[in-house]
Amino acid sequence: MSLQKPTIKLRGHHLICLHFFRGEGYNPEFVENLKKILNRVEDGEEIEVCQGADDVCKMCPYLMRKMCLYEEDAESEIREMDRMALRLLRLKTRWRVKWLDIGEKIPLIFREWSKEYCGDCDWRKVCENNNNFPLFYKEG
Ligand code: SF4
Repeated sequence: MSLQKPTIKLRGHHLICLHFFRGEGYNPEFVENLKKILNRVEDGEEIEVCQGADDVCKMCPYLMRKMCLYEEDAESEIREMDRMALRLLRLKTRWRVKWLDIGEKIPLIFREWSKEYCGDCDWRKVCENNNNFPLFYKEG
């Protein structure tokens, strides 16, 4: 019997947005799960790029029947975000990646990403208060 932990699965937009996580979330269980995932990937565990609900969504109160119900049309809008994230990061579903390698790409793609998605995002203030938030977004 293998005691190895299952590979962490993350969807496209989480590969970008979670670089700005600093402890906020929908409820304590969600935050705890997210912290554990980030600890593992920051320690170098591989991530499998997935489609749809991922290991973060699993503990989200808005996930129902494997669909994101954060708001009306969330499922299709978030899947579109995931596609855009993978396009910008030049990744494909099922590829295995490392968190630090993704992190290096964020400054290179962030202008395009933020133009498309950060303006209306409910988490925008959190990111703007984060020291990691690229300055060029504020300037651009
Ligand atoms: S809001 Fe939707 S995409 Fe975000 S973690 Fe919850 S289920 Fe996943």
